[in-house]
Amino acid sequence: MTKKHNFYAGPSIMPQFTIDKTIEALKDFAGSGLSIMEISHRSKEFQAVMDEAQALTKELLKIPDGYSVLFLGGGASTQFLMIPYNLMNKKSAYLNTGPWATKAMKEAKLFGEMVEVASSADKDFSYIPKGYEIPADADYFHITTNNTIKGTEILEDLDVAMPLIADMSSDIFSRPIDVSKYGIIYAGDQKNLGPAGATIVIIKEDILGNVDRDIPTMLDYRTHIAKGSMFNTPPVMPVFSALQTLIWLKDQGGIPAIEKIKNEKADLLYNEIDRNKLFVGTVAREDRSRMNICFVMNEEYKDLEGAFLEFATGKGMIGIKGHRSVGGFRASCYNALPIESVQALVDCMQEFEAAH
Ligand SMILES: *Cc1c(COP(=O)(O)O)cnc(C)c1O
Repeated sequence: MTKKHNFYAGPSIMPQFTIDKTIEALKDFAGSGLSIMEISHRSKEFQAVMDEAQALTKELLKIPDGYSVLFLGGGASTQFLMIPYNLMNKKSAYLNTGPWATKAMKEAKLFGEMVEVASSADKDFSYIPKGYEIPADADYFHITTNNTIKGTEILEDLDVAMPLIADMSSDIFSRPIDVSKYGIIYAGDQKNLGPAGATIVIIKEDILGNVDRDIPTMLDYRTHIAKGSMFNTPPVMPVFSALQTLIWLKDQGGIPAIEKIKNEKADLLYNEIDRNKLFVGTVAREDRSRMNICFVMNEEYKDLEGAFLEFATGKGMIGIKGHRSVGGFRASCYNALPIESVQALVDCMQEFEAAH
């Protein structure tokens, strides 16, 4: 079997450590004689998993006091509606940097006035808008830090006057962040943390309780904070797997070490895209995503697209076909992807160039 290099955008590559530990726990969890799938979420063994996952998240991201870490069901997409439900009285502000931001905005419109402060839709979301103004009376400002589909990324922690809400589904744990600048950080686990099924939500407790409406119990963040993510049955196995990835992240040297490798991987691939006569990047250089790297064939080599995909697939590359809305190629280089896989893709690009 050829070694597979997994560039899927999500669900996506996980550390082998996470997979091995999950297999063990599926057979016999913590020496209990039961599978992780069979055990009560109220058992002391699982409570320890939840506690450690929350504690390690706080440690790795240096989360200050006053924040809670939740692991919820429903995916990042449920956060699109829970955020306005819990935080928006009259007005909210959104930065539209791509299809996920657009989906979040659609939900906010159900709860009041949603102000799009800026959008890069005019150029197919190939850059991050800058120099916009946020209405001072907005209840919060929502951003999507990494545009998984189009391949742009906001690499700094913005300073804003209202709670900053960030969808970090595809770049959480890839760089150190100043959590104190955020009201909520959320991410579906299936890109950078674990299997699909759990969503991590980091929330500043004092931004809650300021809306006039009644909130259904299950959609009220205060419910989940009060019950430590155990109001209802949490996604038990995905939380266990997420914990294994957190342990792995710490073992790698924590977030600063991960960021260094991430930048090495991204530089390696972008340098090849820029050097190779066959390929060209699709987004503004200063806004290039370090996680989801999008590129297409250069205009004069357009008809080689299918041939390159076939060539690279034959060499073990998986999931490099670009999103249907962009075409070309997308290499998702999440934390668990080894640099050897990026090198293998670069080798493919060079071999293919030499043959054409
Ligand atoms: C994948 C993704 C989502 C959707 O996540 P689900 O868990 O499938 O709901 C939302 N935002 C971003 C940035 C994503 O990459």
